[in-house]
Amino acid sequence: MISLLQCIACGKKYSLSDVRFTCDCGSLLDVLHDLDALKKQFGISQAYYSTKRAKIQGQPTGGVWHFKELVLPSIGDEDVISKQEGNTRLYRNKKTAAWLGLDHTKLYLKHEGENPTGSFKDRGMTVAITQARALRQRAVTCASTGNTSASLAAYASEAGVTGLVLIPKGSVAIGKISQALAYGTKTLVVDGDFDDCMRLIREAQETLQAYPLNSINPFRLEGQKTIMWETLVQLEWRVPDWFVFPGGNLGNTSAFGKALHEAFELGLIDKMPRFAVIQASGASPFYKAYKNNFAGLVPEKADTIATAIKIGDPVNYTKAVRSIRWTNGVVESVSDEEILEAKAHVDGSGIGAEPASCATVAGMKVLIDAGVIRKNETVVGILTGNILKDPQSIVDYHITHKGVHANPPADIDASIDEVKKYL
Ligand SMILES: *Cc1c(COP(=O)(O)O)cnc(C)c1O
Repeated sequence: MISLLQCIACGKKYSLSDVRFTCDCGSLLDVLHDLDALKKQFGISQAYYSTKRAKIQGQPTGGVWHFKELVLPSIGDEDVISKQEGNTRLYRNKKTAAWLGLDHTKLYLKHEGENPTGSFKDRGMTVAITQARALRQRAVTCASTGNTSASLAAYASEAGVTGLVLIPKGSVAIGKISQALAYGTKTLVVDGDFDDCMRLIREAQETLQAYPLNSINPFRLEGQKTIMWETLVQLEWRVPDWFVFPGGNLGNTSAFGKALHEAFELGLIDKMPRFAVIQASGASPFYKAYKNNFAGLVPEKADTIATAIKIGDPVNYTKAVRSIRWTNGVVESVSDEEILEAKAHVDGSGIGAEPASCATVAGMKVLIDAGVIRKNETVVGILTGNILKDPQSIVDYHITHKGVHANPPADIDASIDEVKKYL
């Protein structure tokens, strides 16, 4: 078999067609590919991915399915459910670089908010829903801080499968809940937090056979790996010194580490970049575990304005620890004030992203000021979600609370003299 499921703790193997998310021993499962065989079969090399012009169902693909043989080699092209996710821009940005104290040639921001439903979740969703349909699952579910529900709703609709999303009451940004409703998936608003929703999803999988599309699903992570590979292709295979990104349920942390580990094993890169995972201080169990040499995860009650990372008991903890070890990575935490300050700069530079994404840039600032990230190093920051996902946070900052960089609107009479005052 070219791909299997393998337990990350005890190594026990299962078939890809087993519907399971954890090993008998209770640990998480990885999708394990036979990299040597795939490398030979496809002639995988830097040039292969830099020049490949693949099509899926007659449409040119890039993004996730550009890397199909390293994501889900077993699936037939005709069974892929895709909205051409990925192919996101890698921005240079002078204003943000200046605020960070970096030369603008040293900073890249990869905007995953430019995916079909406005977040990186689409990269994992296209793969996991494709697998769900291959396994003939009748219903797909997720617990969500918002973006997973938006993504699941769109893909369930496309795939023609029943979707059910569970979101925590009062903790989901308006743009995201709107999407879930509009795309037509039944949305359950749970009187509890994200971690309660996640517990219900795990129970629903066991007792109701509902197929979870959360990042506990190893196929989600296979799709999210492509954020790393796509960046490397965009950088013409120059490995940056750092990748910086937010950590919530730690799916990206896990997927990105696996992606680079595989790229290294395949000989696509000859050095590993370092990771900096950024958590909000009010939702920072991974940061605390890192400070404690990963002696163990202590779940906490999460609280932050960055609702996408408001998670106190991340399911991918053990895989994320592995990624930090593989990349000699660091974990940092930033306050809500630091997130909002960074967001004002990212938004004001004309790029814009939702609060959780701006934790990336807030964390960069802390690490650069502390000398952990040095000014001669190349840094790639991942912006995980679109600016329009959380318009309320923008209104609060610029109008209601008038933050330090607030740009409130002005009310004027309908006269040109009034207009002139502002020019
Ligand atoms: C889901 C999400 C995160 C958290 O990602 P994990 O992989 O769960 O750590 C961060 N930012 C945004 C915008 C998200 O939607």
